[in-house]
Amino acid sequence: MQNMGVRNSGFSWETKLARRTALIRRNSVREFLKFAGQPGIISFAGGLPAPEVFPLEEIQIATEAALRNYGAKALQYGQSEGIPELRALIAEPFREIGVRPENILITSGAQQALDILGRVLLNEGDRVLVENPTYLSALSVWRPLGVQFAGIKSDDTGLLVSEVCQSEGAKLLYTIPNFQNPGGTTLSLERREALAAYAVKQDLVVVEDDPYRELRYEGEELPTLLHLSGNIKGPIVHVGTFSKVLAPGFRLGWIIASEELIDRLVSARQAMDLHTGTFNQYVALELISAGVLERQVPKIRRLYRAKRDAMLSALTQSMPAPVKWTRPKGGMFFLASLPYGKNARGFARCALDAGVAVVPGEEFHVTGGENTFRLNFSHPNTEEIHEGIRKLAPIAAGFC
Ligand code: PMP
Repeated sequence: MQNMGVRNSGFSWETKLARRTALIRRNSVREFLKFAGQPGIISFAGGLPAPEVFPLEEIQIATEAALRNYGAKALQYGQSEGIPELRALIAEPFREIGVRPENILITSGAQQALDILGRVLLNEGDRVLVENPTYLSALSVWRPLGVQFAGIKSDDTGLLVSEVCQSEGAKLLYTIPNFQNPGGTTLSLERREALAAYAVKQDLVVVEDDPYRELRYEGEELPTLLHLSGNIKGPIVHVGTFSKVLAPGFRLGWIIASEELIDRLVSARQAMDLHTGTFNQYVALELISAGVLERQVPKIRRLYRAKRDAMLSALTQSMPAPVKWTRPKGGMFFLASLPYGKNARGFARCALDAGVAVVPGEEFHVTGGENTFRLNFSHPNTEEIHEGIRKLAPIAAGFC
């Protein structure tokens, strides 16, 4: 019998794609990430936590406890907002400014938080201020909405808040105040105070994305913009995640905002994926109630501090003088730069040929950044860090 179904009709999906799909750029960082897991490659490319600190045994115990204590409830559909017990735990550190469980929406990672916020808040043509450079996947999740990104410069003490105050007509500012990805910078207290006051006075929506706050290796912890604004009913929205302190595989993040906005976000969320996995939430609840974060955070800090120091000393020892890098006080990344006008994409390709994966920084930028590349230090071990930087140095010299 003739098979009617498989004849090549010349069909192409190209004519069927939605208009907004054209705005989803092929992320060339993937080109470098794809090689990262291959044997023999030292990878500074991804943004992965160190697998050696995942609390496997504690997770096993918490999983059993979740089933024992919550039974079928842990396996059933749940509320779109997330389970009340976890929302209460997340609200606690923000209690003094009026945050209650009603102000929390649990999401599938901080990434989904950004997606929902974009869908609910952003129109085509809206002006969105971002640090230049900023988190690549914030740009890629909001770009299909047709927004106009405006890049704000940063220096060692973070975003230039004076530039934010001068830029007119913006709907929203997206910022990562602690150990920024990819820049490694941290916003100073003075600038935090100025930014929170400005946002409240001018009704500027600020999305404070704070996945790295606990990963501080030196200096004093600084208050969040939401704390400094003093009021959960204002325009500051805080985004958090368990990805860096527990494990990203849980896909557990959250949004803290005024109840008025949370209501809207919950409606949008119902139309997406209903809710974050109930089972994951109960396991996380068991872990946190058993004090896992108090044990994990110091352990992670110690390990990553040693890895950061290893990368810093390797860079200082090996890299040719024209190559510069940031001095992160926490987080997972250094941002390095070749001299102005040099091409970091070409450098990253040569590095990969030599067995070291880095990601070129251009796509993290709204403008410029062609000479920059990002180095992750949380995932490789210290030996790999030393060896990888030693291999990169002569290649960088060829690009200086
Ligand atoms: N925001 C920033 C700044 C990040 O670096 C990341 C993770 N790389 C995310 C959000 C997403 O985190 P999650 O795993 O919680 O989705």
